[in-house]
Amino acid sequence: MRVRVDQDSCQGQQMCSIAAPEVFGSDELGHATVLIEGDLPEHLHAKTRRAQANCPEDAIIIEE
Ligand code: SF4
Repeated sequence: MRVRVDQDSCQGQQMCSIAAPEVFGSDELGHATVLIEGDLPEHLHAKTRRAQANCPEDAIIIEE
């Protein structure tokens, strides 16, 4: 599983970094960044899916 953030959609509420702080950070403008390059470790998949489900802007894109 890989994850990325659509920066045009992200509004920076940071719910993703609360749900999955190992996976999501924020840039200087408060927009989400992905902290892990490439495939996410298995133990972070569920948290990442939860973050995607809770993103109010549908800005989190998961590629299986
Ligand atoms: S929850 Fe969604 S809109 Fe909010 S910072 Fe994360 S990716 Fe951006």
